[in-house]
Amino acid sequence: MKTDIAKFIEAASFAAKKHRDQRRKGNDAEPYINHPLEVASLLANVGGIADCDVLAAAVLHDTIEDTETTAEEIRGKFGERVCGMVLEVTDDKSLPKAERKQKQVEHAPHLSGGAKLVKLGDKISNVRDVLENPPDGWSPERCREYVEWGARVVAGLRGANAELEKRFDELAEKARRKFQ
Ligand code: NDP
Ligand code: ZN
Repeated sequence: MKTDIAKFIEAASFAAKKHRDQRRKGNDAEPYINHPLEVASLLANVGGIADCDVLAAAVLHDTIEDTETTAEEIRGKFGERVCGMVLEVTDDKSLPKAERKQKQVEHAPHLSGGAKLVKLGDKISNVRDVLENPPDGWSPERCREYVEWGARVVAGLRGANAELEKRFDELAEKARRKFQ
């Protein structure tokens, strides 16, 4: 049987291959994998999460949404629990953008504990990016709108992890000052 850490490393390696041709939207166009790795790192190092299924779901969280990866692949390699969490944080891309964003706000309180942690890490990483390395062409107003939407999602995740919530609040506050 595989050790927990072996499963996490396999998930990180799998995600790196799936995202290999993608870049983040910021000016410095970082390799995409830096973001899922940051989410897993936030959970482990800020949130104190040691559950390797949750950390694997964190590093895999954008594979189904943003690459050709299927749920069956994730289920086969990493099991039902990891696959379930990844699916919980995967948007339905057939819906218009505004509807997808509204659904994230509405669904947040109903996510499983593990999926709430992944979602929190995702919002922290994205707000940090908007603050330090925003997507090309985003006006201060658009950056501010993004942060306020993120804060509405995080409002539905409260109670999941105090340290992660605190990190989000600090970044959101900094962003509000920068983009006011
Ligand atoms: P996008 O969804 O297009 O981009 C944000 C997403 O991109 C993040 O959630 C993140 O998702 C990913 N991402 C990749 N690189 C970065 C990075 N460097 N920094 C931050 N995020 C990054 O944008 P919006 O969320 O703004 O969605 C579009 C909405 O914006 C529409 O609903 C529209 O109404 C509105 N809009 C507003 C405008 C304005 O000026 N106010 C103008 C045009 C549209 P992941 O974690 O999945 O990678
Ligand atoms: Zn993400």
